[in-house]
Amino acid sequence: MQFRDIKTQYEHHKEAIDNAILQTVSGSVFIGGSPVTKLEEALAKYVGVKNCITCANGTDALQLALMAWGIGEGDAVFIPDFTFFSSGEVAPTVGATPVFADIDRDTFNISVSALEEQIKWVKNNTNLAPRVIVAVDLFGQPANHDEIRKIADKYGMYVLEDGAQGFGGRIGGDRACGFGDISTTSFFPAKPLGCYGDGGAIFTDNDEWADMLRSLKVHGKGEDKYDNVRIGMNSRLDTIQAAVLLEKLDFFDEEVDACNRVADMYGRYLADCPGVVLPTVPDGYVSSWAQYTVLVESSAVREQLMAELKKSDIPSMIYYRKPMHMQGAFHDNLVGLDSYAVTEDVCGRCVSLPMSAYVTEEDVKKICEVVRGVVNIL
Ligand SMILES: *Cc1c(COP(=O)(O)O)cnc(C)c1O
Repeated sequence: MQFRDIKTQYEHHKEAIDNAILQTVSGSVFIGGSPVTKLEEALAKYVGVKNCITCANGTDALQLALMAWGIGEGDAVFIPDFTFFSSGEVAPTVGATPVFADIDRDTFNISVSALEEQIKWVKNNTNLAPRVIVAVDLFGQPANHDEIRKIADKYGMYVLEDGAQGFGGRIGGDRACGFGDISTTSFFPAKPLGCYGDGGAIFTDNDEWADMLRSLKVHGKGEDKYDNVRIGMNSRLDTIQAAVLLEKLDFFDEEVDACNRVADMYGRYLADCPGVVLPTVPDGYVSSWAQYTVLVESSAVREQLMAELKKSDIPSMIYYRKPMHMQGAFHDNLVGLDSYAVTEDVCGRCVSLPMSAYVTEEDVKKICEVVRGVVNIL
């Protein structure tokens, strides 16, 4: 069994993907070209925003957004304490100060009340200017964007939606990567929409920021790449990756639906199993299920569960073992209230189970039997 079965996905769509790659190679255009332009148009249309700017990966996408806004020294960037390192890494990269906020246990996403407390703390206790909220759509589920938007408006801040895991998720009819002033995603192979290497994209309705982003990602270009009007980066999506993504976008919605059916199956097979807390999706929200993450009673139960799963050849992973505020890179320079109880608790007992469009009902049954065995014994 695979944790995230991109091999079976390839086998199902081999001909189309092989053709797309071969066509790119025989055309010998490897940077830019029509696949990149077509993909940017298709992604913007899919999300429902005016501009999509592709780039080299999801981390660059976040950094480029901060650069486009001129975020730097003296600015505070607020980030959930429970996320992948990149969400916070980009703040110090541009010279800004990261401030971490605790999460909601039900959704694993940033707690709006914890966020506001940290903003107030920074205003009252530092000379930093609160500028950006990084709203991460963790595990595929959109953050509480309605409430986050209210806080951003109240304090005059930007929302940067980190949709690296959230692409394909929705709130009502609104798609993820359309909730931020600028939103970003990643096409790392294991993400909901993955390519065959690294890739990323940035979304915004604001044309001025879009122009700035297009300049920043190509060495701060002016008229062209040999006219350089600002300091930028080299951050492009390869043409081959764009060609692969165009093929994958065709069946992406079907895969999101299939993942939702797998999540429902887990829900059924683990119902009335009090030792396991299942992921919660609020009313009106749709997750794209980048991960299917449950909570068990303790670290000891988690260890035992992962060992038993392994014996049955079932992969499982811990996303994430360490809160952001405890990462060595941040730990010595922490700013904000020392209030991360939910994240610390979740990090100690979360475990992610196999999830993809290619997980079968048989698989889910087998996984859940192991889970029930372990949590009922202990
Ligand atoms: C994967 C990920 C990123 C970074 O994406 P890369 O393409 O690997 O640079 C950023 N934020 C979150 C939440 C992620 O999961």
